Amino acid sequence: MNKSIPVTSACDKPQTPWLNVNDAIERMTSSVKKVHGTEVVAIRDALNRVLAKEVISTINVPPYANSAMDGYAFNSVDLPTSDEKTLTLVGKSFAGIPFAGEVKPGECIRIMTGAQMAKGTDTVIMQEQVQVNDTAITIQSGHCKNENVRHIGEDIKDGDTVLNVGQLISPAELGVLASLGVAEVTVQKQLRIAFFSTGDELRNVDQVLEEGQIYDSNRYTIFGMLKNLGVELIDMGILPDDRQTIEKAFKKASTQADAIITSGGVSVGEADYVKETLDKLGKVDFWKIAMKPGKPLAFGFIDDAVFFGLPGNPVSVMATFYQFALPTLKTMMGLKTTKATVVKVPCKTALRKAPGRTDFQRGILQTNEQGELVVESIGMQASHVLSGMSKANCFIILPQDWGNVEAGTLVDVQPFHGLM
Ligand code: AMP
Ligand code: MG
Repeated sequence: MNKSIPVTSACDKPQTPWLNVNDAIERMTSSVKKVHGTEVVAIRDALNRVLAKEVISTINVPPYANSAMDGYAFNSVDLPTSDEKTLTLVGKSFAGIPFAGEVKPGECIRIMTGAQMAKGTDTVIMQEQVQVNDTAITIQSGHCKNENVRHIGEDIKDGDTVLNVGQLISPAELGVLASLGVAEVTVQKQLRIAFFSTGDELRNVDQVLEEGQIYDSNRYTIFGMLKNLGVELIDMGILPDDRQTIEKAFKKASTQADAIITSGGVSVGEADYVKETLDKLGKVDFWKIAMKPGKPLAFGFIDDAVFFGLPGNPVSVMATFYQFALPTLKTMMGLKTTKATVVKVPCKTALRKAPGRTDFQRGILQTNEQGELVVESIGMQASHVLSGMSKANCFIILPQDWGNVEAGTLVDVQPFHGLM
């Protein structure tokens, strides 16, 4: 701990026992289930979707032994142990146009990368390592049997389970599916998520601001985070701080969506009528979470729809979405892996922190001149400074009981790229 940095003011300290971050994640993720429903889609449409039925290969990949190099194929009985050996050139095997005959001892064929190994051959020498004339090649010693040969099924074997239920389909999976000749896969139905902002002060980007008004930015960060997650979006706009309007919107959202995400209106002072409405319509708890930024959060159910009432401050919205809504939604999507990547790296800058809450400070993760990963603070850490989220590329996660952090301390870092 660095004594020279003043700790944050006493009003940051929890007055009542707050829920810690990991307990809150555990409570949320364990209270939801995978949403039912699967569909069969063409593999390109399966990108960023969750696999609902395992994929078992019905072929070997590669389907036949082939050459890893442009060169010459022959039988390893002809490999010279000393001196050199000359082999007669009897044909060629190109990718897609294999050599039809059999290669006998003392013979070889010209072979290209990916071309099928001919009967009688088990070894390839790359073209740069042989002397060639029109009818023969001369090879030296120092090579071994099976050199430069890709074996049948060495990537995937016939009968292998290649992809598992709950796996996210990324570009690599699309390619693997294509390499198996699989044209369609069964995936989980996309989640439908309704989201809206609450606040009398909020205006749309196409409106002119009057005194006391601000633009609604939360609906855009939430849109972006949900879009990257690959869910169906129902944008319900901005709701004024009005009981009837909110009640109507909550009702409508709960009939249309698997989950509802709101921002704002859950802090003390405002929470009462939102809470009242939620109490009337469903079962939603208002939590104080020992985290910074973030603290107030509502979570529960309106009928079958899961409800996340995120705080209003723009950085708090993103931090609580990533830490709580994301793993919970991933669980609902049927994803096997819901945890974000965390790495330990030294922090270049000293960090100000008060014990009592887990901090998700915004940082920049980069490599220093020695090629080592280091993180530094973006500076101003206030929860309304959304531009800081844009400057940052990671959260620096500081445990609840930590105070100020000295420069050089190893800290947990959660890269934004590892979140989705
Ligand atoms: P609240 O929780 O509604 O009291 O909001 C806390 C802070 O976040 C206030 O400064 C709000 O003006 C701000 N805020 C709430 N919703 C939004 C939004 N959609 N976009 C930008 N700022 C917001
Ligand atoms: Mg508000």
